[in-house]
Amino acid sequence: MKYKEITHLSHPHVLVLESAEEPYQCDGCKEVGFGPCFKCETCNFNLHEECAMPEPSAFHHFFRKCDFRFYENAPGYRARYCDACGKDVRGFVYQCLHEKAHDLHPCCMKLQRTLIGDGVKLHLSDKVSTRCLKCGSKEISKGFRGWSYESSCGQYCYHVACVKNLVLENWRRGYFDHGHNTMALQIMAPNEDNIVQQTGGSSSGRRKASKYWRMAKVALTLIISAIFGDPTTAVATLIASLLSS
Ligand SMILES: [Zn+2]
Ligand SMILES: [Zn+2]
Ligand SMILES: [Zn+2]
Ligand SMILES: [Zn+2]
Ligand SMILES: [Zn+2]
Repeated sequence: MKYKEITHLSHPHVLVLESAEEPYQCDGCKEVGFGPCFKCETCNFNLHEECAMPEPSAFHHFFRKCDFRFYENAPGYRARYCDACGKDVRGFVYQCLHEKAHDLHPCCMKLQRTLIGDGVKLHLSDKVSTRCLKCGSKEISKGFRGWSYESSCGQYCYHVACVKNLVLENWRRGYFDHGHNTMALQIMAPNEDNIVQQTGGSSSGRRKASKYWRMAKVALTLIISAIFGDPTTAVATLIASLLSS
């Protein structure tokens, strides 16, 4: 069942479920959202669906021994980061009860395990075997892998963190505010080495490369949708033009 209007302890006014046509910063977890959003128009206050209606406790299949609890502020004073995307925890969070606790942003907690679309099947993984097509590495930072979506065939792989950054970079550059054609976008082509490695340099290699690139785009679109919420038509269009080179 979908709630259209809710009240939330963190805000004095009624929040209405809307579909944001531009990215917003969630006032709960402070991460970016896109698509469905609980909003107070008067105050420009926004919450992710999963931040507006969190589960008091939760489990995640990557942490089978962990019992997660929802907090509006992470307990303790130590700086914390999200085990999925590696970004700082600055607000709402799920944290497990272990002494050396794991933390997950609510929007990372709810990431789907499997994404399927247009001939590509992607699995959420915390132990990838492939390098990320955006950053070219298996790790987000030294000794920290974070989560990725990896295709069944193993050819397409993107860190959740790298896809978040990509959308954030384009947002900050004003892409989302000023329409589609005002600036050249930093397109996230899989790096050249990777394509050459995968396909060789021949003409059949080039055909493979174009197919490869097309599938990489499909993969990326699926991941963007999974991270930022089911895209509405408007958001889907933005994503499409974000990806067209
Ligand atoms: Zn949030
Ligand atoms: Zn308000
Ligand atoms: Zn734990
Ligand atoms: Zn996260
Ligand atoms: Zn990456």
